Amino acid sequence: MNFTNLLQLVDMRNKLKTKGNYSKRTKSITHRVWHHSLTKKELDGSDAASFAAYHVGTLGWPGIGYTFVIEPKNLINTPNGKRARIVYANDINNRTYHVGNSNQFSLGICVAGDYRYDKMDDATLASIAELHAALVKDGIGKYDKAHNEMPGYSWKACCEYNYRDAFDWKGSKTPAKPTPAPDVYTIQEGDTLWSIAHKDGAGGVQIEDLIKANPGIDPTKLKIGQKINFGNAKKVVVQPDVKKEKSSDDGDETTRSIQKTLNSRYDAGLVADGINGPKTQTALIKALQTELNKQFNKKLVVDGKWGAKTKAAIVTLEKGAKGNLTWILQAALYTEGYNPGSLDSDFGKGTETALSKFQKARDISVDKKAGKASFAELFAG
Ligand SMILES: [Zn+2]
Repeated sequence: MNFTNLLQLVDMRNKLKTKGNYSKRTKSITHRVWHHSLTKKELDGSDAASFAAYHVGTLGWPGIGYTFVIEPKNLINTPNGKRARIVYANDINNRTYHVGNSNQFSLGICVAGDYRYDKMDDATLASIAELHAALVKDGIGKYDKAHNEMPGYSWKACCEYNYRDAFDWKGSKTPAKPTPAPDVYTIQEGDTLWSIAHKDGAGGVQIEDLIKANPGIDPTKLKIGQKINFGNAKKVVVQPDVKKEKSSDDGDETTRSIQKTLNSRYDAGLVADGINGPKTQTALIKALQTELNKQFNKKLVVDGKWGAKTKAAIVTLEKGAKGNLTWILQAALYTEGYNPGSLDSDFGKGTETALSKFQKARDISVDKKAGKASFAELFAG
């Protein structure tokens, strides 16, 4: 194989988070499908290990959805110059989830970064070109396509970068602009409401919009071929403020869903009564400690108590951050009365606005970043 000889390639096939196994392909690969991660390229979370954690932990997939991940933040010196690291994440023969019903014959290649904002650098372009050339020599795939050129996914803002500049592009010449979301979407292999609502979803559709637009469906048990309301989700009215929504005996729906998530994801054992109280707060701190240990190897005691060690272990979250830590931030802001708009695990505009309001109200510097000071205010203040 030519691709395994690339000097900037590291084999991490058995080193990334998994939960079970993907099935093997029963058809040969015809399509090389290019993705970007929609996480800003310099962030901690912009690497194969973080994508694996997200795909397994949040999306419930057996492993990372891509075969290759190109990491612009990890540079490798080669005799030919600096190159972005290429992680070989899944065996070529694994039918991973990344383009639904086309997974069977499609190879997933993800370039870490959010190329709606990030600029592609030379080391990354060179890695794209060299990986592409090696795959062509190896006879792996015939066509290059962007994610949103694959059936059913024209609404995805993926990919949006000019790696087409790096090689002779057999497909389209210009990056495809996403189309509006369809009104009804047919579930494909590996699709989850979370992957559909992910911020490359069109029209800013968020997970909670999808759940509201599809009453009665179990978001954890979608079947291939099932139809869900998608376009309508965009028209769902934005949630009212926490204060307005609160009623004394009834609890609050979002708080209830926070409690349910804490139960299912962290075994919190809460009564999902929709009322924010000390137990919910303790569970949120435990969740925070669990994630810091899992993702950053912090070795905290998971006791649900805010203290100096937990504070010291905090990693700063800012716009573009996504995953369970961002969700915990959003949930904590929400329970403090600062509604981020949606608890979608993505640090976007809504989270930034809610955080700024919170920082202003608590008289800490309004830097739009959730670091030690903000978490201390959320959990100790
Ligand atoms: Zn994609």
